[in-house]
Amino acid sequence: MSDSAIWHPFTQHGLGEPIPEVVRAEGAVLHTADGRRIVDAISSWWVTTHGHCHPAIMAAIREAAGQLDQIIFAGWTHAPAEAVAAGLRALMPPVLTRVFFSDSGSTSVEVALKMALGYWRNRDEPRHRIVVMAHSYHGDTIGAMSVGARGVFNQAYSPLLFDVATIPFPAAGAEQETLDVLEAFCREKPAALIVEPLVLGAGGMLVYSARALAEMRSICSRYGVLFIADEVMTGWGRTGTLLACEQASVVPDILCLSKGLTGGAVPLAVTMATEPIYAAHYADDRARMFFHSSSYTANPIACAAAAANIAIWREEPVLGRVAALARAQAVRLERLAGVPGVHNARTLGTIAAVELGVGEGAYLSALGPRLLRFFADRGLLLRPLGNTVYVMPPYCIGDADLDAVWDAIGEAARFA
Ligand code: PLP
Repeated sequence: MSDSAIWHPFTQHGLGEPIPEVVRAEGAVLHTADGRRIVDAISSWWVTTHGHCHPAIMAAIREAAGQLDQIIFAGWTHAPAEAVAAGLRALMPPVLTRVFFSDSGSTSVEVALKMALGYWRNRDEPRHRIVVMAHSYHGDTIGAMSVGARGVFNQAYSPLLFDVATIPFPAAGAEQETLDVLEAFCREKPAALIVEPLVLGAGGMLVYSARALAEMRSICSRYGVLFIADEVMTGWGRTGTLLACEQASVVPDILCLSKGLTGGAVPLAVTMATEPIYAAHYADDRARMFFHSSSYTANPIACAAAAANIAIWREEPVLGRVAALARAQAVRLERLAGVPGVHNARTLGTIAAVELGVGEGAYLSALGPRLLRFFADRGLLLRPLGNTVYVMPPYCIGDADLDAVWDAIGEAARFA
């Protein structure tokens, strides 16, 4: 047992794994208290886009902190939140006219689900069923877990989870089955479909086609089922475009954003919605308002960070950097193709993934911690999902650091 009182997330303290202390972060690198330089090859759980401690974002945080702390957001507003809302309106699809703030990816999903049910209820057509995709992950709060894959992560809490209708993952060549099942569910008038567009992150970096995404959207439109895009992981350039949905020319009814919303510097999330969803809650009857808030909604300091991030997107060639990283990843992934023990190499935008070994797929397989230690010993922060090793670095990672990451994965393939 360590002296620390901290109970870390997704950590089995009983295994006695060391918990390094990070004292400084810059670009794609973390510096530890014991003087090690660690390459953050997973963007600190997919949040860091431009790089750690981006000067403009950190300056915006410092400036905001000199003026405002938390301000109640029910019936009040402030300039940083207004700047974020206006910036998102300009950057995101124009039909997403409304911006609702919360503080994490999970809460942005909870908000999306509540908006969908509130919409149907306020139209006097109550609908409550949610259609979800197999292997999805939408967060760890109760609603978000309910619409995510069931497994070891949430077995203990399953009595609290609500029922959903699950469509199969649209694997290459099997897309039609997914579409047929979705259509059958849509005939039963569910409230909404929620998906991770183009790539399922925690489910194992499972990539599916833009055509399947577009078809799913058009089935929902045909049957009047709300389409919720959870772009918490895929948004802000991760998949090569600002939103993954763009690659399928899809515009959702409800959009969840977090992680890269502040460039990964501080927690913040938004759920954006179309005007009809807002209008369904707009009345002179207080019973029809949207009943959701948390104490720290639209924290001004977090909003200032998000406004700075949006300015970076407006003013700098971020998509050029994303394209360069995507090419660099693809080249290195190609070098691994054909290496014994490396399977199912795939890439989408800045994300690249492989499976190592055979038959070790489950999240709790012994291979995961062995790989984790192997990479840590080489100064690399990689966090395999079972035997799936993925690389999702900040967009500023240098060639030498990226080489070190992929060389280590090639080496790991030998013992996996
Ligand atoms: N949705 C997706 C697609 C995610 O990948 C995640 C987190 O990884 C979440 C939601 C939950 O976000 P948070 O961890 O900020 O609650």
